Amino acid sequence: MSKIDIRSLNYEELSSQIEELGLPGFRTAQIYSWLYEKGVESFSEMSNISKPLRDRLSEIYEIKNCVIDTKLVSEIDGTVKYLYRLRENEYIECVVMKYKYGYSVCISTQLGCKMGCKFCASAIGGFQRNLTAGEMLSEIYTAQRDLNIKISHIVLMGTGEPLDNFGNVMRFIELVTDKRGLNISMRHISLSTCGVVPKIYELADKKLGLTLSVSLHAPNDEIRSQTMPVNLKWNIQELLKACKYYAKTTSRRISFEYAMIDGFNDSEKCAYELAERLGGMLCHINLIPVNNVRENNYVRSGNERIKKFISVLESRNLTVTVRRTLGSDINASCGQLRAGKSRQNQARQG
Ligand code: SAH
Repeated sequence: MSKIDIRSLNYEELSSQIEELGLPGFRTAQIYSWLYEKGVESFSEMSNISKPLRDRLSEIYEIKNCVIDTKLVSEIDGTVKYLYRLRENEYIECVVMKYKYGYSVCISTQLGCKMGCKFCASAIGGFQRNLTAGEMLSEIYTAQRDLNIKISHIVLMGTGEPLDNFGNVMRFIELVTDKRGLNISMRHISLSTCGVVPKIYELADKKLGLTLSVSLHAPNDEIRSQTMPVNLKWNIQELLKACKYYAKTTSRRISFEYAMIDGFNDSEKCAYELAERLGGMLCHINLIPVNNVRENNYVRSGNERIKKFISVLESRNLTVTVRRTLGSDINASCGQLRAGKSRQNQARQG
């Protein structure tokens, strides 16, 4: 029988497990603190619990951990990129960035991704499986322990589509914001989606107060559908309707991600069209010069084109930023390290 993934349980669930085992109630707080506040990797670290009880627990439960396979540290800005191994042939990426306000971690939510965006390295190799809440938490504990730091901000922008793993991601958010655990503020969490419309409504209705980023990348359906298959299911009109609902329901402004691809979506005409569509919305636009991925041939827009694009948007009173490139010397963008691993494996098998 497979063991229970103990670090995906919330306090109430852990408490009823403890009760079922016939253990005194105070054990819940003890074990919870080891798992969620201290982020232990094994039961043997739970020093205020007797050896026989630890052995009993480890027969029933497992603590899912990430093992560091590769670690790259940027010489430019100290950004750290990890390739973690979960099990054989299961690799995920996680990036830690240092900002003035603290340490931010970019975590993966799935092994691979089903969404198939053409510019994204995460689509390479397809989809393996969803990550559990405990595995997502472990990405953070592993980095904290390795770097001896405390993470204060989280972005769900690594490999995977968070809204395609909705239940586990919601559980992760519940656990990571729990005062008895990592106690990360909801305001310090951003979730990025390619536009899974029904789930945007569901998320809005939860009124969590986290920041929603939406990967828009195009001003019209014709351009968007060429690179983002999700647009064939929910087009821009439906997506923006859901975004407006989100902004209205939560009073939080949406952040639209827009990867600037040379000659594809970066013309002045595109900028005017984008401004037209987003005008009057509670939002922010984040331009990302597209990262080159070996499997595709997208070229990032030059500075002049980016500047022109910004000036059009600003002339229409939209707020725009260009994403700072962190860790450019270590390939710190989405899925590239993992894709490298999969290339290696293919080469070995081939
Ligand atoms: N599935 C989610 C989160 C993962 S990707 C989403 O689509 O939003 C995080 C962000 O990086 C998204 O905005 C994604 O579109 C963008 N991205 C992916 N590949 C990129 C690349 N090669 N260059 C620039 N941005 C990229």
